Amino acid sequence: MEDVNLNKINLVIKWSGKEFKLNDFDTNNTVLLLKQAIQNVTGVLPERQKLLNVKFRGKPADDTVVISTLNLKDGFKIMMMGSLEESIAQINTPQEPNDVVNDLDLPDEELTVDNSIYISKIEKRIATYKIDILNPPRDNKYLIVLDIDYTIFDHRSTAEQPVELMRPYLHEFLTTLYPYYDIMFWSATSMKWILEKLKLLGVTNHPDYKIVCHLDSAAMISVSSSSPKHELVDVKPLQVIWGKFPQYSPTNTVMLDDIRHNFLMNKQSGLRIRAFRQAHFNRYKDKELFFLAKYLKYIAKKHIDLTTLNHRKWESFISHAKDLDQILYGEEDLTANTTSQNENSNNTTAED
Ligand SMILES: [Mg+2]
Repeated sequence: MEDVNLNKINLVIKWSGKEFKLNDFDTNNTVLLLKQAIQNVTGVLPERQKLLNVKFRGKPADDTVVISTLNLKDGFKIMMMGSLEESIAQINTPQEPNDVVNDLDLPDEELTVDNSIYISKIEKRIATYKIDILNPPRDNKYLIVLDIDYTIFDHRSTAEQPVELMRPYLHEFLTTLYPYYDIMFWSATSMKWILEKLKLLGVTNHPDYKIVCHLDSAAMISVSSSSPKHELVDVKPLQVIWGKFPQYSPTNTVMLDDIRHNFLMNKQSGLRIRAFRQAHFNRYKDKELFFLAKYLKYIAKKHIDLTTLNHRKWESFISHAKDLDQILYGEEDLTANTTSQNENSNNTTAED
């Protein structure tokens, strides 16, 4: 019996801030078999794993190396990096099939939904969906509700570091807007993954802005769309947030999402952001958040009622705003500046 035990080792896999036990691993096995065992506990495919401190003769041990030659001590902690893609696939959330529909990009432009049918569904969400307040809402702020996947994070590409998949300017964007906007995230995944992703991206405890709360797929509702087949689509009804936080309303709320039909029940408040995909190609090019920060800051500094805007035209809006730099970088508080309010009305009219 003891001979058998000599060939076994207990290992700990450290990955994504968590530890996974791998007990009684046979040291006659190769690194490849070790990776397969790690896959069983973490869901990360062997080819996506990088075992940082598993070295053979000073170099990362390749797949054919036998574990016993590595002289690992019992209880050894293996530091692993692996792509989020595989871990997300492992969870297999109910949203995954929906994601396929999203990729087909339904002609959302024409879709509508009869909100009145869903009032009771919304009320149920307001009554039963529990929100953890991380940081209390502040007085007189606008609200920005951000999607995560493809909006601030390319969840389908793989990378050694999650931050490589982060949309450029994310922290600058949130830092710029934080004085004017309360911030929430709403993602069609589970809360577990929302928390994990935002932590990995350095959003959770960022020193320059704070997040009010997160909402996950359980706060969404399925609605029958006006499409010919009346497909069910999952939407993110802002009415849930407005019901829970009376200080927010269509006049001061904007929702950013790469999928237009997510704001089917509140089209006016939705701003469709271009999807951030292929992070490795785009992370040095994509400036969407850089320019959106200007748009949203401008709106807030001029105290514009968001129901007067058409977010589809946000780019032309800022390119036509003659006082853009003055408003963005000027020091004066425009709270009581009626002139600028009038100018704003003219501008929005000219846009239409
Ligand atoms: Mg998305």
